[in-house]
Amino acid sequence: MADFTMEIGADGVAVITWDVPNKSMNVLTREAMDEVHELTQQAFADDNVKGLIITSGKDTFAGGMDLNVLAKIAQESGDNPAQGLFDFAMKGHGLLRSVERNGMDPKTNKGGKPVAAVLPGTALGIGLEMPLACHRIFAKNNPKAKIGLPEILVGIFPGGGGTTRLVRKLGAMAASPFLLEGKLLSPDKAKSAGIIDEVSDDPMADARAWVLSEPKIVKPWDEKGYKIPGGAPYHPAGFMTFVGASAMVNGKTQGVYPAAKALLSAVYEGAMVPFDTALKIEARYFTEILMNPSSSAMIRSLFVNKEALEKGASRPDVADEKVGKVGVLGAGMMGAGIALVSAQAGIEVVLVDRDQEAADRGKAYVADYTAKGVSRRKITQDKADAMLARINATPDYDALADCDLIIEAVFEDPAVKAEVTAKVEAVVSEDCIFASNTSTLPISQLATASKRPEQFIGIHFFSPVEKMLLVEIIKGSQTGTRAVAKALDYVRQIKKTPIVVNDARFFYANRCIIPYINEGMRLVAEGVSPALVENGARMVGMPLGPLQLVDETSIDLGAKIARATKAAMGNDYPDGAVDEVIFWMEAEGRLGRKANAGFYDYDEKGKRQGLSEVVKAKYPEAEDQPTLQEVQHRLLFAQVLEAVRALEEDVLEDIREGDVGAILGWGFAPWSGGPFSWLDMIGTPYAAARADELAETYGDRFACPPLLKEMAAKGQSFYNRFGPEAKAA
Ligand code: NAD
Repeated sequence: MADFTMEIGADGVAVITWDVPNKSMNVLTREAMDEVHELTQQAFADDNVKGLIITSGKDTFAGGMDLNVLAKIAQESGDNPAQGLFDFAMKGHGLLRSVERNGMDPKTNKGGKPVAAVLPGTALGIGLEMPLACHRIFAKNNPKAKIGLPEILVGIFPGGGGTTRLVRKLGAMAASPFLLEGKLLSPDKAKSAGIIDEVSDDPMADARAWVLSEPKIVKPWDEKGYKIPGGAPYHPAGFMTFVGASAMVNGKTQGVYPAAKALLSAVYEGAMVPFDTALKIEARYFTEILMNPSSSAMIRSLFVNKEALEKGASRPDVADEKVGKVGVLGAGMMGAGIALVSAQAGIEVVLVDRDQEAADRGKAYVADYTAKGVSRRKITQDKADAMLARINATPDYDALADCDLIIEAVFEDPAVKAEVTAKVEAVVSEDCIFASNTSTLPISQLATASKRPEQFIGIHFFSPVEKMLLVEIIKGSQTGTRAVAKALDYVRQIKKTPIVVNDARFFYANRCIIPYINEGMRLVAEGVSPALVENGARMVGMPLGPLQLVDETSIDLGAKIARATKAAMGNDYPDGAVDEVIFWMEAEGRLGRKANAGFYDYDEKGKRQGLSEVVKAKYPEAEDQPTLQEVQHRLLFAQVLEAVRALEEDVLEDIREGDVGAILGWGFAPWSGGPFSWLDMIGTPYAAARADELAETYGDRFACPPLLKEMAAKGQSFYNRFGPEAKAA
């Protein structure tokens, strides 16, 4: 069955409908590009056709390009992948340009048939680039619809003419939030921004009337004397835009995201030449980006693999385990968040705490959240009421009786957790799954309190629950497949991304982030400038420097973890140097943001100021400072070597989870595609040699894991050895 079909009405309007069979949303494939091209050409050539409407048979228009296609084109282009990608981009430009200019005389701009795009809902990526090449865009008044060009978020930029057309339609300054930040808008806001032209309840009827009204269809940029709104780069105002945009992009991306820079170059150079040349420039930069290892790693992790995990790549093959009613134990910070996202997903929630007051506090957090949502018009009052009504806040354990999943988020104390496990099991049915949200306690150990350890699992959320996209699912030594399926089906219901790992101290995410934070504090203790530490981290793409991260998560939490780890590890405990800093900070009351004092100073309102002079006085800066790269390598290797160890020890079963989990869980330099992608980028031989050097200089924590050593000797990469293709082979 075709993705596009055409029907020509008695009124002479040809309606081309995009409706990919068996998919909830349209995505564009290579074959479908040819289909729509053929249909448009047929309509242009048909004398009975007065004009065209391109629309969708679904309640959305399109989700974009199938990014798997982009990855394949390079692979299939033999020894010249860049040529293959460039030819593909230029073919796309040709197809869209043939719609925009159909039959128009190049000199007089006369002739041509009007083409309207009708968007019933969401239109993203190529799903907006295609309408931008039509002559007028009509959208349904659907506040849920999202309209925009989010390509930058997966490491590429709009290469289907969207970059060139949007800049010419809005001007570089006005187009920048949509191109550089991937900002998405509802139809009415997209209209106010000038991206689309009409919003109404019946866009089909409006489009039809417009098509038949013999409208003027030549695009402004195809008319003589056209000038870019806001000015091209040599115009005094345009000049300021480009200088500012360049500074802003470098400030925001720290220069590590190649797509943002390439996009800016395409916009700048494209603004100085005629439209068709600008398209060619866009295609060149687009090719350059698709050839960049950072972009392919970002597409792989943030699009292909993230989606595969969300669709259940790690799910055991057992029957549907969709959750009907969830019991949340503990209505504190985490429990309230878990209740919130569950109710938001339409799941009934029983929220239990020690007394009614504590349970109500948890529900009040959700009420606050929904009230804000209503006042910002993100949800309707009815939806907010329905969401709150789904939460039963109570101290009564009997209310949990008909829950099919329990998630406990009570105090981080094995005795308290054991007590609630027994209390819950006394009331729930035999097949109920019990999950713990513990961040540090081994699941297998907690499961000893359960009568049904095969039904006991870890579902580890990150804080704040409603914002963080990752959920780490932890299998204890006895956890069975049904519990894994239940956890995964639940995570899918609440629309987050899951990774499934085996039980070990700190699981995966915290295991890798703690060494990063610790390395930051060690550097300070050694007399390395805190500014060098923080900027070094940010300039390599970490969203927060390690010292800021300590301030955000608080020193007392660090001190608690340090004491517990030391107690568990005894003489093997490696972090004495870090403890010195942590315990000094704790004793000084510099507990971080919540105390308005940490590695940074804060004003009375809690706004972060500069790095603290008190800390600098305690740890004076040494005369000799390390190079930026040395600092960055210490911070990155501290994390990636831990990720390799997690793989080596089978805590991680799939490197895709290691990469996706690192980016979504703790913000590991997203431009790199994750720790394993980064190691592949720098090559295992270099990584192993560098780990040896770091170990020699700074100690055993950088010792090269045997797995990495072996892979370096064989010249292997992680994705070739452990990627899904290798697994399938
Ligand atoms: P919190 O102190 O804010 O909340 C704990 C809640 O549990 C309190 O409301 C308390 O009254 C309730 N509680 C204690 N004993 C109970 C009992 N017997 N029955 C019912 N309720 C009981 O703690 P939190 O930060 O929400 O953490 C909860 C759990 O989540 C801990 O295991 C923690 O390790 C884990 N966790 C926390 C974070 C984080 O960033 N805070 C992140 C991931 C996981």
